[in-house]
Amino acid sequence: MTAIVLRTLNFSVHILERSSPTILQSQAAGIRAGPELHSFIETYVKDFDPDYALTAESFEIVSKNAEVEMTLPPQDPLRLTTWKCVYDMLLRALVREEGLGSAVYQTGKKVEGLERADEKVVVKFRDVESDEVQMLEADLVTAVDGAHSTVRKIVMEDMVQPKYAGYVTWRGRVPEGDVGPKTREAMKKRCVVMKGVDGGYMISWVSTSMIILDDLAYGARYYVPADPAANVGNKYEFVWIWYDPIPTDSTEFNATFTDVDGKEHFTTIPRGKIRSEVWQRVLDRKDAVSNPHFIELLERTKEPFVSAIRDLAGTRSIFYNGKVLLVGDAFALCQPHAGGSTSQAAYQALELKKALKGETTLPDWEQTCLRGAAAELQRSIGAAKFLFGGEIPKFIEKMVAKSEGQ
Ligand SMILES: Cc1cc2nc3c(=O)[nH]c(=O)nc-3n(C[C@H](O)[C@H](O)[C@H](O)COP(=O)(O)OP(=O)(O)OC[C@H]3O[C@@H](n4cnc5c(N)ncnc54)[C@H](O)[C@@H]3O)c2cc1C
Repeated sequence: MTAIVLRTLNFSVHILERSSPTILQSQAAGIRAGPELHSFIETYVKDFDPDYALTAESFEIVSKNAEVEMTLPPQDPLRLTTWKCVYDMLLRALVREEGLGSAVYQTGKKVEGLERADEKVVVKFRDVESDEVQMLEADLVTAVDGAHSTVRKIVMEDMVQPKYAGYVTWRGRVPEGDVGPKTREAMKKRCVVMKGVDGGYMISWVSTSMIILDDLAYGARYYVPADPAANVGNKYEFVWIWYDPIPTDSTEFNATFTDVDGKEHFTTIPRGKIRSEVWQRVLDRKDAVSNPHFIELLERTKEPFVSAIRDLAGTRSIFYNGKVLLVGDAFALCQPHAGGSTSQAAYQALELKKALKGETTLPDWEQTCLRGAAAELQRSIGAAKFLFGGEIPKFIEKMVAKSEGQ
């Protein structure tokens, strides 16, 4: 998103992304598109498909026997989509918009170092396949390299590391045609949460399922519904997340984060890499889940994946005299209960434009980012307390009052 904004200011942008296109395309995790992200899409993605997100009217707390216990109308439209859908849309907007600074997007390029050189910054990166090391000179570096940011480690020597939050998230997706009619009806067009699942909670919603066709001959990309003809099939899919407490450094934690090839992972075991015995132990916890619809989603999931959740409060976003900026999870890592992290990144990109145009200053931008991240952190902590079974935070109280017509 920062790259899109920079292009509108006539910067020529060069993006170095470590992952391969295959890995990026397989990241179909479900996300809530918060208001700032939606506003970014409305502003910068020409002719965006409004079906990129489905809007749920409420957020429902259901019991283990699938009865609705509480219906909470959201304060902002509850737009539900997937990471991949948003990624594809933004990438298309970045590389296809014309008449601005140029854009180069390269995958399989891992940033390893930064050096100051007069008014420039030299970025050192490695080609993941060939191992070749290259340099790139930049006027401005925006580091959006995620929770375990390499750039953050370079520019903040006194940096504290993100801290494990005490739980993992199991995640998966199931095409709507793969579940029976009862589950389909119970979960469709809804955002459903079940609290008290073995000390954690589960959430599921439906999103539009889309695939991308790469037209290599023309370098263009097209969105197509996965199966437009099907009434029931794979036009929609259910995405689900199980927030599940696992003590750090326990045998269970270590077993969970060792993949099918015996490789240990720090944050995520990607799709298709969870060992079958680990996943079987999750499926064996049916009694704890109890709700038949959630059990069906777990059982029908083909390639689940699991992530350890960590957080880190943002403290600074400007380095090297304003030549290096931290954005998104690289700046501040929030636990995902309120679903606002991508919106934070969108907000930071929108506000950065004002600073670079001279309407505000970079220090103003940093303060804005700090305030936004702190507010999101509070929302997330509040949502976690409620969803893990504790007190009701102010913003949920407001939702309850709205549902009761107060
Ligand atoms: C369980 C869960 C649920 C979530 N739900 C939501 C939600 O509902 N709504 C929401 O808005 N957000 C949600 N999030 C958060 C969201 O997925 C990301 O945190 C958010 O998109 C921030 O993105 P980012 O671009 O800053 O970081 P990332 O998405 O992590 O992207 C960083 C990128 O940098 C690349 N990279 C890393 N190191 C290097 C390097 N050295 N060189 C080159 N490239 C590098 C990585 O390959 C990656 O593509 C959720 C997260 C989790 C774990």
